[in-house]
Amino acid sequence: MTPIDDYIPIVGQSVIDDLKLIAGKLEGKLVQHINSTAVGGGVAEILNRMVPLLNELGVKTRWDVIKGGERFFEITKKFHNALHGRPADISGDDYSHFLEVGQKNIAEIDTCGDIVFVHDPQPITLIKKRKDNKWLWRCHVDVSNPAPGLWKFLREFIIQYDSAVFSAPQFAQQLPVKQFLIAPSIDPLSDKNKELPKEVIDAVLLKYNIPRDKPIVTQISRFDRLKDPVGVVEAYKKVKRYIDCRLVLAGGGAADDPEGVQVFEEVRERAGKDEDIHILLLAHNDIEVNALQRAPTVIVQKSLKEGFGLTVSEALWKAKPVVAGHVGGIPLQITNKYSGLLCHSVDGAAFAIKQLLNSPAYARKLGENGREHVRNNFLLTRHLRDYMLLFHSLYHDTDVVYL
Ligand code: UDP
Repeated sequence: MTPIDDYIPIVGQSVIDDLKLIAGKLEGKLVQHINSTAVGGGVAEILNRMVPLLNELGVKTRWDVIKGGERFFEITKKFHNALHGRPADISGDDYSHFLEVGQKNIAEIDTCGDIVFVHDPQPITLIKKRKDNKWLWRCHVDVSNPAPGLWKFLREFIIQYDSAVFSAPQFAQQLPVKQFLIAPSIDPLSDKNKELPKEVIDAVLLKYNIPRDKPIVTQISRFDRLKDPVGVVEAYKKVKRYIDCRLVLAGGGAADDPEGVQVFEEVRERAGKDEDIHILLLAHNDIEVNALQRAPTVIVQKSLKEGFGLTVSEALWKAKPVVAGHVGGIPLQITNKYSGLLCHSVDGAAFAIKQLLNSPAYARKLGENGREHVRNNFLLTRHLRDYMLLFHSLYHDTDVVYL
């Protein structure tokens, strides 16, 4: 575990002093996070680092994970797609099964926290267990355009919470409960983001047989259609006509995402026999992801919908030039032509990748700007502060929290 004081050289002494002061005011409260997977995806990524740090700061925090079978996660994946405005055929039986599994989790999970912090739709029905404790619902997905039927169903649960938390202003909804806008964050000292010696990066490239003879373009994401890996292959093929380069598409699975294998096969098919395309199915290994994000010349995150897109901040923190979809939380991280390049299509992505490969000095400047933007806005220390202030606000009637 990383001591909180180790962040001082990165964010400054006063930021850490503030965190200690705010944490002191939460003494005696138990915070309980609940989500649907301990491994894979952005939520698990954040909780893995946040929970130990809150405990170190003196805010007692625990993390519980709900249980669900294959069918449950197929249904919640449909929910995920429908919340992102994609067609998803959710039947009456699907809703019934979702509620049944919810009922089992209600029976099994001890919601003993003074503050119960529920992440995303999978565990949302736990609110039925509400007693006189405080309940928060944290939405990590892009709900700028949710399927109306599903939103109506979820809304009945959301309005029973004390407050809802969204990642970006365009996701805010008409709700009778208070809403908070809190962006996610990355941990600069985690294995995923810490500095790596060159030998470690080289060893990971060697392991995956990726030569360094040409510029490397990389996207690292779950194999999910909303991350548009097929679109990345198409953009690469357009770039390749003009600039010789390699494409690395790497991703692992998440326990709550059953679609990965199918999408992986679609990507393989689109890639064909091009030996400069490397499609990697990763086991959970943060050092490897770190190395694969440090090796490329350009990083791509060509999402079609995105709650936030931690991979963008991860790449910017490594001072990489990034080409990313102009969707969801990505524009919070990238100001076009200042801290990266935003795109709206395969052609746009190809154009931006070419531009960065052709102009190393411009690419370097965007990467440097991106790193400073992440330092100021998207590191775990800012996120800890926002969450602790949110916890305080639950015990105050006013919108302002006085410490
Ligand atoms: N990730 C990983 N291994 C992979 C693919 C992704 O560790 O094979 C990590 C990635 O580095 C990031 C998180 O999973 O920290 C994904 O978060 P993001 O917000 O980008 O997308 P989500 O998967 O939550 O939609």
